[in-house]
Amino acid sequence: MIRFEQATVTYPGGVTALDGIDLEIADGEFVVIVGLSGAGKSTLIRTVNGLVPPTGGAVHVGDREVGQLSKRQLRSLRADVGMIFQHFNLVNRTTVLNNVLMGRLNRVPGWRSMLGMWGAEEIEVAMQALEVVEIVDKAYVRASNLSGGQQQRVGIARALAQQPTVLLADEPVASLDPPTSHSVMRYLQKINREMGITTLVNLHFLDLAREYADRVIGLRGGRLVFDGPGAEADEKV
Ligand code: ADP
Ligand code: ADP
Repeated sequence: MIRFEQATVTYPGGVTALDGIDLEIADGEFVVIVGLSGAGKSTLIRTVNGLVPPTGGAVHVGDREVGQLSKRQLRSLRADVGMIFQHFNLVNRTTVLNNVLMGRLNRVPGWRSMLGMWGAEEIEVAMQALEVVEIVDKAYVRASNLSGGQQQRVGIARALAQQPTVLLADEPVASLDPPTSHSVMRYLQKINREMGITTLVNLHFLDLAREYADRVIGLRGGRLVFDGPGAEADEKV
């Protein structure tokens, strides 16, 4: 369970990006967060992995209170929370498989991963993640040789290789054309349904939210303006 209690984030400089958010997300939910640029979507999902700690109120992820964690607890939180980005954030010079193995970095001892000494087990986990997004055949291709949609699938596989309990996706389809966007949303939905991973996705557009989300959260000016089924989200967000 993820629980926001009057969660507020005021950035240095004075912008209040989240303003007293109260929200509970149950294990296994697929939630889409919508709102205009600047509404606070990125900030909201970044509080969940501790990248942006709340400056007021609290955010709980399971039994952890983000913002009250030791460095070690914060590392453990981030290991449990996979992240998917708008611009994929792959290392272009290396292979798809190496990119996915990077998802394992916080799950294996540093010296082994630094030397690239991946064991057979690690490679198996990475290949299985590639199978989920149906791109195993590209495992030994350089990441830069893939299309945008394929790169995002690798981004998803990298997050899955980390064996997370929560997946966060910050505008994962904002750089993709409509058919590719649907394909990426379908993979995220499938992963949520089949693997039960709690999933939070930020989207610019309500149409995709309506189609894929069980639950839509609308933000405006850092406040919660809607929380309900996608079909009812229309005018309110
Ligand atoms: P988005 O499409 O999510 O609205 P932005 O262009 O607003 O993206 O933000 C891109 C990056 O710049 C993010 O990492 C965000 O945290 C950071 N950022 C946005 N606004 C500011 C600001 N006023 N001061 C410093 N960093 C900012
Ligand atoms: P969204 O993802 O909905 O576009 P953000 O969470 O990126 O919204 O931003 C919400 C507000 O916080 C915006 O006004 C943005 O400029 C500001 N902001 C975001 N990141 C930073 C930052 N690192 N420093 C200062 N202001 C920021």
